[in-house]
Amino acid sequence: IDPLAPDTVRTQFPVLAQRIHGAELAYLDNAATTQMALPVQDAMRAFEQHDRANIHRGVHVLSQRATDAFEHARSTLKRFVGAGADHELVFTSGTTDALNMVAHGLSTRGVRPAWLQAGDEIVVSGLEHHANLVPWQQAARRTGAVLRVLRPDAQGRLHAADLRRLLNPRTRVLALTACANATGERPPYEDLLQLAAGAGALTVLDAAQAVAHGGPALSSLACDFMAFSGHKMYGPMGTGALVGRRAALERLEPLRYGGDMVAWVSATDASFAELPARLEGGTPNVAGAIGMAAAAAFIDEVGRDRIDAHLNALREHAVAGLTELPGITVLSAHSRASAIVSFVADGVHPHDIGTLLDQRGIAVRTGHHCAQPLLEHLGLGPTTRASFALYNTHAEVERLLAGVAHAMKVLQ
Ligand code: PMP
Repeated sequence: IDPLAPDTVRTQFPVLAQRIHGAELAYLDNAATTQMALPVQDAMRAFEQHDRANIHRGVHVLSQRATDAFEHARSTLKRFVGAGADHELVFTSGTTDALNMVAHGLSTRGVRPAWLQAGDEIVVSGLEHHANLVPWQQAARRTGAVLRVLRPDAQGRLHAADLRRLLNPRTRVLALTACANATGERPPYEDLLQLAAGAGALTVLDAAQAVAHGGPALSSLACDFMAFSGHKMYGPMGTGALVGRRAALERLEPLRYGGDMVAWVSATDASFAELPARLEGGTPNVAGAIGMAAAAAFIDEVGRDRIDAHLNALREHAVAGLTELPGITVLSAHSRASAIVSFVADGVHPHDIGTLLDQRGIAVRTGHHCAQPLLEHLGLGPTTRASFALYNTHAEVERLLAGVAHAMKVLQ
């Protein structure tokens, strides 16, 4: 059986089997949130029904089961992202949370001086989601560090030569995405991370859009911190992880002080626990962690190479079809491995296209996709974005193309 055949894989996502405005749902908003696979829901429900208890230091059986399940989820996810022996994974509430932990942790004085000092430089790429930009703006403000932007060219591509020009002995951080959510551009992040690490910077990779498609193997990268979200990999919303080199994670001043992250506490002082507990203050989302790990197992079961090939083919199909439509311009049309097709239409507002597509049961996203500086740099306003997941089909791409052609006829 082909695990990616629609009649096989779509049964694992019951939400897809519904009609919207009388038409079959074509869910093409996966860069925002993918749907959650049944095995993920089953794993979470099993925990809640049989093993639910708070973790760590519990002497009773349920607490030990919950602790084991949580730590097992951590190992599964470390393996999934290709973490090595010198890596650790910290559970977070998502990519935004993870990136804030890094930006805060490097810009706040703790036992040690902050990694970032006045006059230091932070390089942020111009492709970033606001989640990998605003925390760095604030870190710069807090420390007196300077924010430098690695600007994309007119096609939205990043170049190593431009980064080489920006790097200098004061560069302390490079913050970069593995795939831009607004355009689908995949920068040459392997080379860019390597360059920045060679210059002595800590490197931060936003893998939110990459982890379920062409996911980078952490061990092969010059990457100190990598962030991703569960809800973009068929897992639960409000879950995520920060995975990175132990030595780099040790540099972070915790964002959350409280229970579970301390070694000892007196009335006036405290010392912190070892990683990963040091960065996981408070009761974690245990069912969420279990769900994320179940999602990783689901992806591996279907097969990552097969998923990647399927998503690339869907995108190529959509790009080819949209490019043929008069008045449509596809952004980052030639980007390698991406599941995102973002486009603008001459004289037509994306919101109107999105509304007409919705009338046909086709769910896409319109707007700035939390990447306003990028679209402004490219001289563009809001876009229409279709994004694919493993359950999408070529028939749905055909419906998207027909829907956009129809919208253009009506609206232009
Ligand atoms: N970075 C990128 C590239 C994203 O696409 C997103 C989600 N749109 C985020 C960060 C933020 O992820 P979350 O909302 O799960 O924190």
